[in-house]
Amino acid sequence: MSNKGRLIVVSGPTASGKSTLWKRLVAHPKVDFSISATTRGIRKGEVDGEDYIFISKEAFEQRIASNEFLEYAIVHTNYYGTLRSSTEASLNAGHDIVLEVDVQGALQLAECKLPMVSLFVVPPSREILIERLRHRGTETEEQITTRLKAVDAELAFAKDYDHQLVNDDFEKMLAEAISILGYAKENSNG
Ligand code: 5GP
Repeated sequence: MSNKGRLIVVSGPTASGKSTLWKRLVAHPKVDFSISATTRGIRKGEVDGEDYIFISKEAFEQRIASNEFLEYAIVHTNYYGTLRSSTEASLNAGHDIVLEVDVQGALQLAECKLPMVSLFVVPPSREILIERLRHRGTETEEQITTRLKAVDAELAFAKDYDHQLVNDDFEKMLAEAISILGYAKENSNG
């Protein structure tokens, strides 16, 4: 792991397993997670200030006007954005910070010229992805349809990321991500 903190950008289609991946990456002591702000409604089981900072559309637009976002985008009809304040604190402390953002966010972050590694999680097949999404049970059928429409468009951006990780075997994919990011080396050195 480098001495200077890096932005670790994780993207992938809905239900690709990207959240499971970042949750394991942030278990590393010098890896933080960027808690995004969003205008989407809170889901069952989510905690305000832990999963997201849930704010109104008006509050989000005020923060856009005061240039508080490193990047932001409208995803599935809601605003989502990365606050400059949370990333700066981690990078200054020499920590890597994981940002789970959509492809629009990743493109904006690439323009920031901050040290960055981008990972795109590819689900093994469209069928498995649909199955995972239905099984998750957090979206209505209508929301599932909206999200599935975005999947093909998102997959077209995979090639623009530094690394593409296929999630057909989660532990294998995690090991690959750890190796890419250099975390395994640091752990083995104590
Ligand atoms: P969900 O509503 O399922 O938590 O997230 C929907 C989408 O928004 C996901 O693709 C996720 O990566 C993206 N997202 C979450 N936070 C941010 C953010 O801060 N910026 C951007 N651009 N996308 C985000």
